[in-house]
Amino acid sequence: MGNRFQVSDRFAAGAQYIGGRLRAGTSDQEHSVIDPATGESVYTYALASTADVDEAVAAAKAAFPGWAGATPGERSDALHRFAGVLAEWADDIARVESLQCGKPLKLTTEFDVPGTIDNTAFFAGAARHLQGQSAAEYSGDHTSYIRREPIGVIGSIAPWNYPLQMAAWKILPAVAAGNTIVLKPAELTPLTSLMFAQAAKEAGIPDGVINVVSGAGRTVGEHLVGHPDVVMTSFTGSTPVGKRVAEIATATVKRLHLELGGKAPFVVFDDADLEAAAQGAVAASLINSGQDCTAATRAYVQRPLFDAFVARVAELMETVRVGDPFDPATDLGPLISHRHRDSVAGFVERARAYATVVTGGEAPGGDLKDGAYYRPTLITGAAQDSEVVQSEIFGPVLVALPFDTDDEGIRLANDTPYGLAASAWSRDVYRANRATRDIKAGCVWVNDHIPIISEMPHGGTKASGYGKDMSAYSFEEYTQVKHVMFDNTAVAAKDWHRTIFGDR
Ligand code: NAD
Repeated sequence: MGNRFQVSDRFAAGAQYIGGRLRAGTSDQEHSVIDPATGESVYTYALASTADVDEAVAAAKAAFPGWAGATPGERSDALHRFAGVLAEWADDIARVESLQCGKPLKLTTEFDVPGTIDNTAFFAGAARHLQGQSAAEYSGDHTSYIRREPIGVIGSIAPWNYPLQMAAWKILPAVAAGNTIVLKPAELTPLTSLMFAQAAKEAGIPDGVINVVSGAGRTVGEHLVGHPDVVMTSFTGSTPVGKRVAEIATATVKRLHLELGGKAPFVVFDDADLEAAAQGAVAASLINSGQDCTAATRAYVQRPLFDAFVARVAELMETVRVGDPFDPATDLGPLISHRHRDSVAGFVERARAYATVVTGGEAPGGDLKDGAYYRPTLITGAAQDSEVVQSEIFGPVLVALPFDTDDEGIRLANDTPYGLAASAWSRDVYRANRATRDIKAGCVWVNDHIPIISEMPHGGTKASGYGKDMSAYSFEEYTQVKHVMFDNTAVAAKDWHRTIFGDR
């Protein structure tokens, strides 16, 4: 199949990156990175042990004073060099990301990798622009000012759907602000996180500032979250695991940032541009094979447009070319694993009992039979409280439902536990603006769905978690605001001492 290549040599030393050195994990368990397009193992590595986590945290702790003490300008210069190295390595990183995730090469080369380079360049600039309130004599007798300080060693846990970008979203704001970090990527996809850390070293970022432990969630992940020398946990993944992480972090009084699941609504009002909405729904539901926390999953379409929307979306879905990620003509690659593909298929099979599968709903056979592929799928006729409308499927599956009044469309859009992202489609500026106000989500697009930019925050509400990735808002997570207050009176008996000494 296609243009396969070897990664084993590149990671021959192992899949742990600790103190600036790639080495093998010391647990007695191995894990294989599987190419989901073929089902074949491309790399087998020893998983990290909890002792490896201890060593990585110690390396990050040792690196902290030096990195936190660097000037913002010095950190910025290092991050600019880092963006340059990533640009030089872009082709290699894109190919490894496509191999371990099954993402079409055009997605990794046009989205994952350039997005990560842009994030890195953004945080190089942002490192020099930490915000705070102006110094002033707010009490009259003191000068108050704000210090915004790095907080220490950050423990981060990332999912498999955008391994490179999630590593970047976790590492960059933390490191730009002067923290050091230990990242645990998903077991399925450690390779580009390791390349990201190696690129940082190549750029001159000191050893120990960025560490990667590739290990299992229940053991290594929980150990990292509970580690006494880790001051903050930043987690991106599913809502159930996020709840578990929150329990452990709370027990050790850690700062917590949770980016969890989503079930994004896509609300089409009856004055919308039907063709734009249909194309937008297909692209936004199928990007990354639908394994995107912000992917369009629930299309609510006002009744006059509903039938035409369904027909056009089905027609467009059938033109999407499912195939080998390394074939330049491929639009849609496999899902991350056969197990996950079977989970997605299970949702669709159960839905057949109460809804209509308009197109898709099957794995392609033929040349693709060994891969974890699934065809673009459109479902109608499901009730609002049904499983396919309420649960995160995380696959190339869109459910379309009609609505009558604008209020009903918004109410249905808000009617899941999640609140990560949403879109409203209308040519009426007042209607669109009301939707942006009333939809409960961390991001609402108007007449588009998916684009993200380094300058603007990403993060959810409700069961989608809290805290922001990217943008200057991410520094709220990764810095400690300290109030410093200087007395200006130079007198021993200060006015407020009357509360203790009375009028003596
Ligand atoms: P997951 O929750 O199964 O795993 C995420 C990470 O947590 C992995 O590294 C895993 O090893 C680790 N983990 C598992 N159990 C753990 C435990 N008990 N303690 C500590 N760590 C543990 O999620 P996934 O299947 O890898 O990714 C898909 C999910 O991620 C979806 O729900 C998706 O919506 C979500 N996601 C959210 C965002 C966002 O920005 N909100 C972005 C990407 C993905």
